[in-house]
Amino acid sequence: MGKVIAIANQKGGVGKTTTTMNLGVGLSKKGKKVLLIDADSQGNLTICMGYENPDQINYTLSNILGNLMLEREFDPKEGILHFEEGVDFVPSNIDLSGTESTMFEIKLGRESLLNEYIDMIKENYDYILIDCSPSIGMVTINSLVAADSVLIPVDAEYLPYKGLDELTRTIYTTKKKGNKKLKIEGILLTRVDERTNLCRGIIDLIETNYGNTMRIFQSRIPKYVRVAETSAFGMSIFQYDPEGKATIA
Ligand code: ATP
Ligand code: MG
Repeated sequence: MGKVIAIANQKGGVGKTTTTMNLGVGLSKKGKKVLLIDADSQGNLTICMGYENPDQINYTLSNILGNLMLEREFDPKEGILHFEEGVDFVPSNIDLSGTESTMFEIKLGRESLLNEYIDMIKENYDYILIDCSPSIGMVTINSLVAADSVLIPVDAEYLPYKGLDELTRTIYTTKKKGNKKLKIEGILLTRVDERTNLCRGIIDLIETNYGNTMRIFQSRIPKYVRVAETSAFGMSIFQYDPEGKATIA
């Protein structure tokens, strides 16, 4: 049965999508069967997978959640696309924001629709990674309810305290009320440039404030222009820059 990891942080632009894609491809290179789920109406992960116009995809996560809301029978494999670097993925586009509003109107079970879906497909994968949106809305709550653990990318260039506290509170509430198995995988520092005082200071503060309660991964992802370039080319960092320092990290 697959392990489900939500990649979440409601702060925008911290590297959630980049981490989801590259961790996914990295795991698949280790022989694991991997499914990535784009749970963001911006469709950035879908774009990274080579679909320049996610809004033109007819069947997305939004349709899957819609089927579940209407209790319609459907083939859970429908809509799963394959990325040439070895991972499967469920795309998303702007339709997801409409679906999210509709989800609010359901009285029972609205937080566990994604979990219901993942239960249907879990046996086909070793890992399922969910790329969350930069907000704590209904789809992100669904991702936390469906997940075994949460991986939190944190931008080492930005003081993230307020946001991180809010996120960890949400994780603990979800654990208490909706998903007892939920764990925090740890904080992954991204866009790290250890030559700057700001970055070193932020890393120290994160280690002081969170180091006792959660793992902070020793691997730090360096800030590196080649990482930013990959998304535009629809390929992973392993393909684009096989020997690069961010790839190794
Ligand atoms: P959002 O909150 O909008 O979903 P996100 O958290 O998913 O954003 P990404 O889209 O992964 O963040 O990254 C934000 C931007 O930073 C992108 O342009 C990406 O290419 C770039 N980026 C991510 N990681 C790095 C890195 N290690 N070095 C340089 N640029 C990076
Ligand atoms: Mg993103």
